[in-house]
Amino acid sequence: MIIPFFIPHAGCVHRCVFCDQKRITGTAVAPDPKDIPVVIESYLASRPSRKPAEVAFFGGSFTALPDRVQEAYLAPVRPFRASGSISSIRISTRPDCIDPHILALLKNHDVSTVELGVQSMDDGVLAASGRGHASGDTITAVARLRSAGFRVGCQLMPGLPGDSPDCFRKTVATTISLAPDLVRLYPALVLKGTPLEILYRRGEYLPLSLDEAVTWCASAVVAFEQAGIQVARVGLQAGESLADPGAVAAGPWHPAFGQLVRSTIMLERMRAALTVRDVRNPVLAVHPRDLASTVGQHRRNIQELVEEFRLDGLRVIADSDLAQGTVRFIGCAGD
Ligand code: SF4
Repeated sequence: MIIPFFIPHAGCVHRCVFCDQKRITGTAVAPDPKDIPVVIESYLASRPSRKPAEVAFFGGSFTALPDRVQEAYLAPVRPFRASGSISSIRISTRPDCIDPHILALLKNHDVSTVELGVQSMDDGVLAASGRGHASGDTITAVARLRSAGFRVGCQLMPGLPGDSPDCFRKTVATTISLAPDLVRLYPALVLKGTPLEILYRRGEYLPLSLDEAVTWCASAVVAFEQAGIQVARVGLQAGESLADPGAVAAGPWHPAFGQLVRSTIMLERMRAALTVRDVRNPVLAVHPRDLASTVGQHRRNIQELVEEFRLDGLRVIADSDLAQGTVRFIGCAGD
């Protein structure tokens, strides 16, 4: 269980062209540090199991805040860490706000995971997006965090101004070479009221289509998972503020974006499993957790393969002995 504290834009010295944390997080103001124990207590009281929880500070540039503010947020978590009810603390921040002094402050307050808003490893994309840092800052920050023993997360945003399939492939390859512990993929959206909306309305920025974003992210997920890097999230959480009509002016928004990506990956794996078989009623097995994404929304994957391979039917069954993400050809229905 994660106990989230959203600190929208706190510490941000740059206004990145795509960003509106108030809309993304659905939170207008950062919490008062003195309220932190009460919030933690209330989450712990309502948790379904006695398993320890994690406290997370998201939505701003945590390590760009003055030391005394960072400490004011982190110090109230200490008694919960001591009692064992909170197992870990994570923060998110910018890659150019990690230095030895900050690492010492975070260590001193028991922060275990630092997520970096990497967005892209292309300096042209970063400049066009108003990020105010370069890819070299990410390389330095990840190295510093890793050597200080932190878990490292990298958040990437495919489809920013100047991005391209080739450019994003390089971003993925460079990120893999940094060996973070986890990544999150958030395709760029044109949020209402952002500078990116102005660029879009002027015809100076074209967001990815939903299909493009799904294809880019599916390739990235496969590459990260093959490299042993956890993909913690794909696509923004479908919070109420994003569901407001007009909140997303343009771009590849879908409330179940992550599932579309997983379905695309499973479609390719089913296709590979069927390609070398000359059968009319194949049966494929997948891990139970993959069933929904394998079948696809509205059975789209099944229909597509039935047409493509001119099948009479296609059955997918669950097999908990299989690893997640695996598709196995079992035989033919009626065999
Ligand atoms: S992307 Fe990060 S650094 Fe940029 S404005 Fe948003 S919260 Fe601040």
